[in-house]
Amino acid sequence: MFNVYELFNKINEVKPEIRLDAGQPDIPVANEIIEEAINSLKRGETGYVSTTGINELREKIAEVEGVSKEEVIVGPGAKILIAAEIAMANKIGVIAPYWNAYLLIAKNFEKEVKIIETTLENSWKPEINDNLDVDLLILNYPNNPTGKILPREKLKELVEVAEEKGIKILSDEIYAEISFKSFTPVRELYENTVTVKGFSKLYSMTGFRLGYAIADKEEIRKIKTFIESTVTCVPPFVQRAGIKALELRDELMKKVSREYKRRAELASKILRGLEFYEPDGAFYIFLKTPIDGLEFVYKLLERGVSAFPGIAFGNYQNFIRISLTSDRLEKGLKIIKEVAECESQ
Ligand code: PLP
Repeated sequence: MFNVYELFNKINEVKPEIRLDAGQPDIPVANEIIEEAINSLKRGETGYVSTTGINELREKIAEVEGVSKEEVIVGPGAKILIAAEIAMANKIGVIAPYWNAYLLIAKNFEKEVKIIETTLENSWKPEINDNLDVDLLILNYPNNPTGKILPREKLKELVEVAEEKGIKILSDEIYAEISFKSFTPVRELYENTVTVKGFSKLYSMTGFRLGYAIADKEEIRKIKTFIESTVTCVPPFVQRAGIKALELRDELMKKVSREYKRRAELASKILRGLEFYEPDGAFYIFLKTPIDGLEFVYKLLERGVSAFPGIAFGNYQNFIRISLTSDRLEKGLKIIKEVAECESQ
């Protein structure tokens, strides 16, 4: 299996001028959020706290998400909550292209994975049939790496199959707040859903390590057992920062998602003539390349631009993922266009 973190280390060594590889937002964390973390530390909030999360944060999440506090658990990043669910499953369905970590986690827990491929030609829409023999299906919309949001009707179709087969859905909605068109949370359509969200994308709080899951109380109890037996709890000052972030949510949703939409439109304009799906959300473009994607990535590195090859996201040899997370995006995109044109001659 291609290990994206190894390539990431190599890119770090080469130090390209324009970084369009990782999913690390370039927009700084809001000052108020940082101040809140500092003030919390100064108040002496430095000890262990409840595994499910401090009351005030759980309450705030519940308010924002329209659920009850008991249906929420806080964790150190969305990833560990995803890991908790994968650890509990037997066989996992993953729609490709996918975020590489799902497979790395499944491998760690020695779980069987069934990949469901989708294509650019079919606008990255998954076709799921009655033969799907998994007990956990991971959905991720808005999607990393394609930027796709499934239309509600398509989602309904998918959920009907899951319901019929008794499959639990793990909906990774970490990019939900960066949606350029209507987005339906899966739990609105299907009860047997665990939703995972976090603070890494809209709020750029990747290093804070803060995420949460929404599920029924019994499921929350199971996730709690996993968190309790591994990471114990999320530091209280990080959770305080999370409360502040949620207080700024509406303002940041307007400001930050508008900025990513602007960048997505800029990318679509510069890359016109090449093949890709114009993103509905998140901050990536999954671009078809005229040569092998990994080779293309190395050619870009020579020109001082980094991106990830499509093979990091499944069987997509002729693709690269461009992350729209640099203030030098325009120049980077122009170089990508030049290299693509040069290689297709
Ligand atoms: N889920 C997806 C689809 C992601 O792309 C990422 C980060 O790149 C995460 C989860 C990670 O979230 P966190 O930083 O909260 O662990």
